[in-house]
Amino acid sequence: MIVYKCINCGEETFERRAVCPKCRGEEFEEVDEKLGELVVETTLYVTPSSFPDKYTIAVLRAGTTRVLVRKE
Ligand SMILES: [Zn+2]
Repeated sequence: MIVYKCINCGEETFERRAVCPKCRGEEFEEVDEKLGELVVETTLYVTPSSFPDKYTIAVLRAGTTRVLVRKE
């Protein structure tokens, strides 16, 4: 899982940003982090059109940030 690490302060985010939310730095490096601990998981039964009638999403740790994933 690629996360983006601020060169200035080390803050990691899973989405690419133009500006660091912590220090407003503008330079990032890509870091390959393994998906780790499960933070929370839920199954959605009311879903947007063009999506399945139900599916499960989860938030996992990746380095010092968290990542939203769709499980099924
Ligand atoms: Zn920063």
